Amino acid sequence: MADMSHWEQCVLNCSACPLCATRTQVVCGNRNYDATIALIGEAPGREEDRLGTPFAGSAGAVLDQFLADSGIDRRKLYITNTVKCRPYTPTEKGGRNRKPKKSEIDACKPFLMAEMLVIEPQLIVTLGATPLSVVMDGKLPKMEDEHGRLRRWELVGGIEVFPLYHPAALIYDRSKTAAYRQDMENLRLLLTQRGLI
Ligand code: SF4
Repeated sequence: MADMSHWEQCVLNCSACPLCATRTQVVCGNRNYDATIALIGEAPGREEDRLGTPFAGSAGAVLDQFLADSGIDRRKLYITNTVKCRPYTPTEKGGRNRKPKKSEIDACKPFLMAEMLVIEPQLIVTLGATPLSVVMDGKLPKMEDEHGRLRRWELVGGIEVFPLYHPAALIYDRSKTAAYRQDMENLRLLLTQRGLI
């Protein structure tokens, strides 16, 4: 099993960006350190911040659908987010989730890279532009061009990355649904060819 204890200790005590002041807790990955596939989302939302678990609450439904569509066994999957603390805009009702800022993504990038280097998944799947921007070294990707295009993340040893639209984006733009479904089919094919499912 990969030794993540040092990594976890660092991230749990992190104050490298202002999100440390407003988090309930740091949300690490799902601790499935022997996983062969990694799924990277954007950032913890309210439920994840409350529970300390990635892909909880409404994001849990996203994960369940992803597992059903891809055919990946949950036990083979490491799930994490690009930033580990919840970004939100304060409201009277406990805050509205927001996208992480570039400065927050940059501050958290070493943690994401470190966990990929230790886990060494055979494939990384990214959801939406935020995690892909880290893979692309800070460049904001045009998802219309990048989705479904296999690339390598050279800074973590050339691990292959399969970029997907974020499923939440489909709620607001149904025109992307067909492309997302095609990507999922291609991903499933790739995973089968590689013997990963
Ligand atoms: S989001 Fe990342 S960099 Fe910012 S405080 Fe949390 S762990 Fe540290």
